[in-house]
This record gives sequence, structure tokens and C-alpha cells, in this order.
Amino acid sequence: MLTSTTKDSNVRRIVGIIGDPVAHSLSPAFQQPALDAAGIPATFEKWHTPLADLPTRVAALRAPEALGACVTVPHKINVMAMMDEIADSGRLAGAVNTIVSRDGRLIGENTDHHGFRTSLAETDPLAGTRPAVVLGAGGAARAVVLALRDLGVPSIMVANRRPERAADLAADLPGVRLGLTGIDEASLRAALPEAGLLVNATSLGWRPGETPLDLSLLDFMPDGSFVADLTYRDTDLLLAARERGFGTLDGLGMLVHQGARQFTLWTGLEAPLEVMWAAALAARAAKG
Ligand code: NDP
Repeated sequence: MLTSTTKDSNVRRIVGIIGDPVAHSLSPAFQQPALDAAGIPATFEKWHTPLADLPTRVAALRAPEALGACVTVPHKINVMAMMDEIADSGRLAGAVNTIVSRDGRLIGENTDHHGFRTSLAETDPLAGTRPAVVLGAGGAARAVVLALRDLGVPSIMVANRRPERAADLAADLPGVRLGLTGIDEASLRAALPEAGLLVNATSLGWRPGETPLDLSLLDFMPDGSFVADLTYRDTDLLLAARERGFGTLDGLGMLVHQGARQFTLWTGLEAPLEVMWAAALAARAAKG
């Protein structure tokens, strides 16, 4: 973490993203402009890290010039054993997406749930008031469930291809009123009429024609419903939801807000959100 002394020193700081792959990540595209806008002499690097190199890469973050790192697929769980401390956010999420280097000590955090909560709250005026159906039970779905719990969502149905994974999620998050089901037509027909919010937290949606559920099932949702998709751009699911007059949210807001929290954890400074948003939108447009 940056201190007033280190901020003013001539030492150029480093921070980066650890994953395999990392080339596709949008994080460097908005974190570097944020550091520049805040006047922090630091470089955001892409650290492509195969599993065998992970211990060395993480150990390098103990160097005085390191602020920390983003952690992405497939290392969010593996890095946990390499931390000196896991913050509550990482413990609740069961995964670390952010490493903060503080005087050579490594602290594992998770900013995804802050990212989703903030993004949903600023977009859906009824956030927190309606029952929700969450598709998926991986790391991102955990973040969504934690965020919905914080927002006070009265009940959450988690629907996953492998129901046993949804059961693990429920066991790890006591106190959340969770129902569990598969992503099958009969279960969703039963759950969706009660739900005003549907969240896609599966990995399906990146390719055209790829949807996590049969889109005709959206007809079972009440008028005025809201559909969120963690994919960083419009998906067939979001397009179909808008055709029905529903409010929609893609995953870019979650990405930017989780990145803003990372920026603050690394630097101790408020994140320049407008700069981050503009850079993220430009980077997404450039990817097509
Ligand atoms: P995980 O690998 O942990 O989980 C993947 C989820 O998708 C599981 O629930 C899995 O089901 C489900 N899934 C995968 N393939 C299929 C399929 N063919 N049919 C049905 N279900 C399937 O990934 P994450 O949770 O980390 O990420 C999920 C998505 O969220 C990704 O698209 C990722 O890019 C996005 N994401 C976006 C963020 C943002 O800031 N916007 C932040 C983090 C993630 P099962 O358990 O049965 O295998």
C-alpha cells in the first residue's frame, strides 16, 4: 500500500494482474489510467503466470516497490495458501481476486462482491427489494449472493448445472435465505414467476447464440423485472430481456467498481471512477 512517503519518492511502484491467460483482461486498460490520473508513479503490468510459476510470482509481491496484484482465472483459490492474511472479503468469497502488499506482508482480499453490489444498486432502483434467481454457483455467483444479501434481497434461488456445487455455496454462506435448483425448465418455471431479478453468473453468454437458459422462460418473470449478466457486454440474454421491457445490466459496471476497490486497497486513495469508466468503455469498444 502506498504511504505519503512512498507516493512522493522517486521509486516507481508496480502492480499487475496474475492469471493464465491475462492477455484478454480489461483491468490494465483502466488501472493504468487511474494510477496516472492520481499522479501515482506506478506501472500496471500483465503477469501471465502458469501454475508452476505462481509461488515465485506471488513471492515477488513482497518487494518494497510492489503495491499488490489482481488475481484472475485460474489462480483465485490457489493463491490463498500463499497469503499472510485473508481479509473477511476473501474468506466469505472463498477466493482471492486482489493481493495487497503491505510492508512485505501479503493480504488476500476479494472485491467482486463490492463490485456487483455497487453496480446493481446504481442501476436497478428496486435493488434489494425483490426475490432473485442467480444462475451459476462458481466464484462470481458467490460474489453475487453476498452482494444480494448485503442489499437485503428477501430470498435468493441459486440454479446451477451441477446442483451439488450450489449446495456447497449454500453451506458456506449461512444466514442467506437460499433455495437451490438445477438450470432446468421445470425448476425455472417454478422459480421465475416469484423473481423480479435474474442474474447470469455462469460462464455462458460470451458467444452469440449462447444463453444460460431458454430465453422463452423470461416470459414467466413479472412485468418490470430486471436482468443482470456478469458478461462485460450485451448478451443474447440481455437483448431478450430488453425486448420484454425489463431493465438490464451487463458486467462492465461490476468490473469497474471491483477495480475501484482494488485501487483504493493498493493506494489508500479514492479511485478516479470517471477515468476508469471512460477507459473501460474505450477498451471494450476496441475489443469489438
Ligand atoms: P467458475 O468457473 O467459477 O463458474 C462457472 C459457472 O458457470 C458454474 O456455475 C458452472 O456450472 C457454469 N457453467 C459453465 N459452463 C456451463 C454450461 N455449459 N452449462 C451450464 N452452466 C455452465 O467461473 P466464475 O464464477 O469465476 O465466472 C463466471 C462468469 O462471470 C464468467 O463469464 C466471468 O467472466 C464472469 N465474471 C465477471 C466479473 C465482472 O466483474 N463482471 C467478475 C467475475 C466473473 P457448474 O458448477 O455446473 O460447472
